[in-house]
Amino acid sequence: LMQLSIPLNFIGFIYREIRQGLTDIEQMFDLLDVDAEVKDKPDAPDLHVRDGTVEFHDVKFAYDRQRPILKGISFKVPAGKSVAIVGPSGAGKSTISRLLYRFYDVQDGAITIDGQDVRDVTQKSLRASIGMVPQDTVLFNDTIRYNIRYGRPTATKEEVEKAAEMAQIGDFIQSLPDGYDSMVGERGLKLSGGEKQRVAIARTILKAPPIQVLDEATSALDTATEQEIQQALDYVSEGRTTLVIAHRLSTVIGCDEIIVLRDGMIAERGTHTRLMSIEDGLYASMWARQSEAIEAERRLREARETD
Ligand code: ATP
Repeated sequence: LMQLSIPLNFIGFIYREIRQGLTDIEQMFDLLDVDAEVKDKPDAPDLHVRDGTVEFHDVKFAYDRQRPILKGISFKVPAGKSVAIVGPSGAGKSTISRLLYRFYDVQDGAITIDGQDVRDVTQKSLRASIGMVPQDTVLFNDTIRYNIRYGRPTATKEEVEKAAEMAQIGDFIQSLPDGYDSMVGERGLKLSGGEKQRVAIARTILKAPPIQVLDEATSALDTATEQEIQQALDYVSEGRTTLVIAHRLSTVIGCDEIIVLRDGMIAERGTHTRLMSIEDGLYASMWARQSEAIEAERRLREARETD
């Protein structure tokens, strides 16, 4: 046993040593989300985006077959339009974005882009056509400039800075002692959730994909940050097919269609105005609850200030 325990300890030591060095590679894999389960078909052609219409056709999906998450979801995001998915926590909102990006395959039904099933085209071409602003952006241990340029490695210095400004993060970067050369990531400056999300938006602005998915951060943001992000998102969505996975409701008001998901099914759908007019509707009640929470927070803040 002694003979075995020494090599095991040694392996543990080596593993920990290597792990640190591997963090960057791991992050890269996270970012690309390399998933061996989903494979290209032999001789799969590239996706050809014409106008960028996204359609879900009766999509069913479960991570674990015992527990269905999506039980038959159909909707269309017409080219250049924006559709928001809202609904209670755990309803399957983010799952929809993961399926479109093909991190997983649907179990029934299909997802198409301009009529091409995402399972029939190369993953590389699929992912090159979709800009993902994820809930939690992975940053490389490198400069902020490098992290933004990741959206399009050939972008010039000026293009990177312009994208940062459009994403409402330019002033913040300029206020840093080393500006765009500041190191970020695990071993550098830690950015807040809202700042990271704006880095992701800047990347997407550089990438300029025909289709984009915005998966909002779940974490609460202060009102000013939320407005800045909203402005950045409005800019990036202009004229592009946009799917918004919304955890807060304030971001969805202007969307062309809002889909309310509950228990893996579409419970309600329509514009903000239409959904608000449904008596005892789920969307209207979500708004009422969110408004109450905001009001309660405001009162609490006022009470603190007068103390
Ligand atoms: P939230 O608003 O809280 O982010 P959501 O509507 O985006 O929720 P999803 O992230 O789509 O919800 O998750 C839907 C359900 O699937 C949840 O119950 C979750 O626990 C489960 N789930 C998500 N990812 C996985 C996974 N990788 N493996 C197994 N179950 C998962």
